[in-house]
Amino acid sequence: MARIAVVGGGISGLAHAYFLKKKFADATITVFEPGNPGGNIATLVHEGATLEPGPDSYLDRTGLFNHMMRDLGLQSEVLFEDKKSAKRFVLKDGYLVAAPKSPGGLITTSLLFFPEKIKIFLAMRKKFSLWPTITLFDAARNVLGFSAAEYLASPMARGIFGSEAEDLEFSSIFPELFRKITESAKLKTAIREYSNEKRSYWQKELKEIQFERGIYSLKGGLITWTNALVAKLRDLGVEIVKDKIARINRDAGQKLVLSSKAKPYEAFDEVVFAVGTEDLAYIWRDHDKDLSRKLGELKYSPINVVYAAWNKKEFSPGGYGFLVPRKERAAILGTIFASNVFPGRAPANQFLTKTMISGDSDLFKDNELSDLAEESLGRILKLKAKPLWSKVFRHNPGIPRYAPGYGEWKKEVQTLLEKHRGVRFAGWAFSGIGLADQVESAYLHAKARAP
Ligand SMILES: Cc1cc2nc3c(=O)[nH]c(=O)nc-3n(C[C@H](O)[C@H](O)[C@H](O)COP(=O)(O)OP(=O)(O)OC[C@H]3O[C@@H](n4cnc5c(N)ncnc54)[C@H](O)[C@@H]3O)c2cc1C
Repeated sequence: MARIAVVGGGISGLAHAYFLKKKFADATITVFEPGNPGGNIATLVHEGATLEPGPDSYLDRTGLFNHMMRDLGLQSEVLFEDKKSAKRFVLKDGYLVAAPKSPGGLITTSLLFFPEKIKIFLAMRKKFSLWPTITLFDAARNVLGFSAAEYLASPMARGIFGSEAEDLEFSSIFPELFRKITESAKLKTAIREYSNEKRSYWQKELKEIQFERGIYSLKGGLITWTNALVAKLRDLGVEIVKDKIARINRDAGQKLVLSSKAKPYEAFDEVVFAVGTEDLAYIWRDHDKDLSRKLGELKYSPINVVYAAWNKKEFSPGGYGFLVPRKERAAILGTIFASNVFPGRAPANQFLTKTMISGDSDLFKDNELSDLAEESLGRILKLKAKPLWSKVFRHNPGIPRYAPGYGEWKKEVQTLLEKHRGVRFAGWAFSGIGLADQVESAYLHAKARAP
């Protein structure tokens, strides 16, 4: 009977414990988490509004989220993005312009000029060779043209990764798409195969699952999901220990020993680490200095979140929200119109916004960050109203940065890890940035693990 430890009870750790326990019922699984399970998922209620300081939604492209909700008995709690939020906007020359929602939308969008649309149309028939360290910005510019890099890649990078498109490695943030583009004879084929392959893989895997591709949350916020996951894990016999792991070692029988500052735990056969690289580097500092040093090299992008509630009579635009490309030189990365996406997130007479601001948050006081968000919204949306209240959340170190060289760094980490049998590194520093990446990678790990 294998003894498996999962270090970190964010969504990655919880999902690993869940899929491993479902597949290997007789394994003894222990999750170590010093804080509240869920990690970045930390929904709270403030002044009658439901706030998500970290992630607010799950983009389900595979059906895995819906599959999990069914297994957790949460179907009646699931929320799908409201139709009111269908339009996403990008700031261009000071105005909000609707963003394309599919490759076909590239032809109709007014984010691009006509000659650029022709260029994209022609590019679809061409073959592209991209070098592995190309940035997202340069990949978009080479393949789709300069405006696409400025008004599609840049806002996406800032909205999802909290980074500039110039600072992200294309092959690391979209590894499968990169592979398809470099292998396929035509861009069009690469894009088609990329989306079809993923879809058909998961359709086969999850068989009868019926779902709509799009953005999901739950009544009560994403914490409803992690709370149910924790309850399910306990039902299945997974132990959740409130402790912070400080050290790893091997005992005389070569089993893995984890210790917190207070005590060592009984030895494990396998350990899944689902914590940030700063914590990982600390845990590994004595056991493998080279690995620890390498782990410490990954950079993060600090990000701040400013929630604000507005009187709906004064301010309640339509749509999902907007993103700000670097070129527009605004102080914010973008704003989600949170109460449009999932109605009920704010009292009926209020409108809720969630604004992202990048940068080292320690340099700013809370009121400075909320003023910055308010001024930016005022300028961009030509808004005179004042918010009823604002609340600031800081994420430091922030989002792992998949910068040029990240792919090489990850390979070097994997090589150093080869000598540590039974150890896996997971979580958003390794498996992709979004919630879906964590859940899919946990599922695939349990599937691939030998009995
Ligand atoms: C502002 C923001 C908005 C986001 N929005 C979205 C979104 O809308 N949709 C989306 O898909 N993704 C979003 N993301 C990304 C998403 O939050 C991540 O993909 C996800 O939270 C990563 O989960 P994780 O388990 O890898 O890490 P974490 O959630 O960071 O969990 C790591 C856990 O490890 C624990 N830990 C640390 N050290 C130790 C130790 N020594 N011993 C034991 N435990 C330890 C921590 O307490 C923590 O709970 C957003 C991220 C941010 C910051």
